[in-house]
This record gives sequence, C-alpha cells and structure tokens, in this order.
Amino acid sequence: MEIEISCPRCRAQWPSAAVDATHWVCPECGESLTARAPGGGQQLTRCRVCANEEMYTQKDFPHRWGLAILVLAFALSCVFYYWHWIVWTWAVLIGSVVVDALLYWLVGTVTVCYRCGSRYRGFAPNPNHHPFELEIGEKYRQERLRQAAHRSTR
Ligand SMILES: [Zn+2]
Ligand SMILES: [Zn+2]
Repeated sequence: MEIEISCPRCRAQWPSAAVDATHWVCPECGESLTARAPGGGQQLTRCRVCANEEMYTQKDFPHRWGLAILVLAFALSCVFYYWHWIVWTWAVLIGSVVVDALLYWLVGTVTVCYRCGSRYRGFAPNPNHHPFELEIGEKYRQERLRQAAHRSTR
C-alpha cells in the first residue's frame, strides 16, 4: 500500500508507504503535512490527507504509453501499407489494440482524491469510488481557483 501525496506548498509529488501516519514531511521543501483522517489500514473511506470523501478511481496507466503504442502502430502500418504488406499492416493494427488491452488489464487501479490529488495504491476496493466525473472534478477545480485567488490577494 502506498500514498502518493501532492505537496500543497511546492507541488512536488512523492510516494509514502506510511499510509496510516498522522503526518508526513515533504522531502522536497520540508513542509509538514498533518493527516486530517489518519488510519484505517486497508480500507479507504476518505482521503487521509485532507479528509475529503469524494474520490475517483483510474487505471494506473500512463496515458502517454497508450498514445505512444498507437502512434508507433500507425507509423508502422503506413510503412507496411506503402510496401503492400497488407497482412502485416493489419497484423500491426490489430496487435496494437491487443497490446493496449493487455496493458490495461495488467496495470492496477489507483484511487485519487478530487480535492488534494493524493493517489492511493493497493487499498481494498471501495464500491463508493467511481471513475472520474467531470462535474465533480470541475467543482474542486473551481475551489482550487478560488483559494489561489484568495492567497494572491493576501
Ligand atoms: Zn513540498
Ligand atoms: Zn485529499
């Protein structure tokens, strides 16, 4: 189990195995972060860093990988098509879809806090957590903007 915390001060992201800790210290800027909802072991009911209950799940799969595979497959298929290797053209296109699906199936799920962006890996699945919803994400984006505006006027 692991939490990847986004530092509110310097924005650095760093993983921590101390998932039940009451506070963490940012290795980049030394900021001390107090857990607002510490403990709970395997169960993830709310964000331990900011105590927010709204979280979303996503595949722990870097989007650029998927994109890189598609771009590579497309480039290869163009070359094969140019050479009239029609079977290979199709093989590459179908193969890339299969590889994509395999990777998707192999990688784990990560749970992310809408508010502070903390990422949780290896916790017990929580049926209340669903994939990202734009509407909820927008609510928290607005909240962050308001806070940023508030900070800059002080
Ligand atoms: Zn920091
Ligand atoms: Zn949070």
